[in-house]
Amino acid sequence: MATFFGPGDFIFLFIMSHLMSIIDKLRPSWNPSIPHELLSLDIAARLRTDSNSTMAASIDFGKIVQETPTAVLYPSSANDIIGLIKFSYSSATRNPFCIAARGHGHSVRGQAMARNGVVVDMNSLKNNNNDKNNGIRVSWDASLGFYADVGDEQLWIDVLNTTLENGLAPVSWTDYLYLSVGGTISNAGISGQTFRFGPQISNVHEMDVITGKGEFVTCSKQTNSELFFAVLGGLGQFGIITRARIVLNKAPTRVKWVRILYADFSKFTKDQEHLISIEGLDYVEGSLMMNHTPNNWRSSFFSPSNQTKMDSLLSKNDTIYCLEMVKYYDDQNDNTVDEEMKKLLEGLNFMPGFMFTKDVTFVDFLNRVRSGEIELKSKGLWDVPHPWLNLFVPKSSIMDFNAGVIVDIILRHNKAIGPILVYPTSRKKWDDRMSAVIPEEDTFYCVGLLYSSDFDDWQILDGLNEKMLKHCDKNGLKIKQYLPHYKTKEDWMRHFGEKWNTFQQRKIQFDPKMILSPGQRIFN
Ligand code: FAD
Repeated sequence: MATFFGPGDFIFLFIMSHLMSIIDKLRPSWNPSIPHELLSLDIAARLRTDSNSTMAASIDFGKIVQETPTAVLYPSSANDIIGLIKFSYSSATRNPFCIAARGHGHSVRGQAMARNGVVVDMNSLKNNNNDKNNGIRVSWDASLGFYADVGDEQLWIDVLNTTLENGLAPVSWTDYLYLSVGGTISNAGISGQTFRFGPQISNVHEMDVITGKGEFVTCSKQTNSELFFAVLGGLGQFGIITRARIVLNKAPTRVKWVRILYADFSKFTKDQEHLISIEGLDYVEGSLMMNHTPNNWRSSFFSPSNQTKMDSLLSKNDTIYCLEMVKYYDDQNDNTVDEEMKKLLEGLNFMPGFMFTKDVTFVDFLNRVRSGEIELKSKGLWDVPHPWLNLFVPKSSIMDFNAGVIVDIILRHNKAIGPILVYPTSRKKWDDRMSAVIPEEDTFYCVGLLYSSDFDDWQILDGLNEKMLKHCDKNGLKIKQYLPHYKTKEDWMRHFGEKWNTFQQRKIQFDPKMILSPGQRIFN
């Protein structure tokens, strides 16, 4: 039966079309690169486009890069993430939009951003965890020993606190614990324990990963191993990790913590190399102290009287080198630990009279950066630009690196504010099948130039970073960037070296439409 419009219907249609155009104008602006149909999916209620959400996802700890996403997804479960990725991936008729997982946003170059795309705020999975252990489950089995199944949105501080309730703890750490498990596993996760236990990525048994095709895959060394190794140090390129099974050990209760000072870089590094080559220590790091650098977030170790002694030393030397070592202990060895530590110190070439010791709880040691963070925050010095540069320097180049970079560029500039870390680690616990890139040599140094700057002068320090990289390049120092940041594809290819083909093939296999982690600027 045919239907005809009467005059009343025309008036109704006229009013409706007017109303629709007003509603359209009131809708939040929507970038054409993201289709409107997204708003009709189940996840629409957890997708936000308001400026509070998009602004929060467009900045990071670095305060250097700003990229605004069109929307932010606050997932309530892995299924929400699957829905989002599948939607972007599956259409044959429109372009996919990019998606970035954001852990704790502590990258320094926009790595967790997605311009005109969707940022997945992993933290919101925490709020939806019904499990009484907050998404962290401790278990044991005969082949793996103790381990924890951890949601990748979890911060390492929460992993520590929860596993300690069972007298257990992960073995490999970062210096700072307010970083997400997914964020550090996407890089490597290194600290003074790495020489002994390997990086955090060497201490993962299994993961749940949602690939760039929206497939949910459980992977390990034995099952779906290509994805497993791709994701470890994979800079978020192959999938969004939602669970990691992490190695646990019996947790010590306390630590003996020693800092010894050197005026000579060669003696400092020789002793560090010696200490990582023998058995007995659980942590070895080192840093530079310069007379122009005010108290920074890593120097709360020294008491006021020790600080005076250090200031006097610094008035006579532009730079001193501080070697830091730790031995864990508990009831089992509290009678012998001092003697063991004394033996480990034998034969070291530090400046007589410049040894400082502390005896603190395991938690206070691991969470040592927190007090510095709180202090800097109170002075408004935490939320400032951080033009950081992190490098791995082969052992054979460290003296040249010291002369050409540390002395000739950093110390000559004499204005860099922030910790400068220099400590050796060992290649032996890194599996070459992982995506993470390290130098070829058995021993290499982790060098962290952790600068803070004002909002109007971070470019000066960045210029200095460029100068250092050029120097290394020109002089054949085979360094690798850690937390890498490059501007061209050629640079990325050089960074990955022999691993580039595998990295690229894995991208085609797991994220063929180049949807994930565009902020790394490798394929996007
Ligand atoms: P984000 O910045 O949120 O993300 C980093 C990258 O990982 C992005 O590409 C993002 O898309 C991706 N990503 C995040 N979550 C997931 C997921 N679940 N699945 C897949 N991809 C994901 N590093 C060390 O190794 N050792 C240290 O001692 C150390 N100390 C630090 C101290 C401070 C104060 C800061 C700010 C950083 C430090 N870092 C250190 C660097 C840090 O490990 C990395 O920047 C890390 O990426 C930060 O974690 P995040 O949760 O903030 O990650």
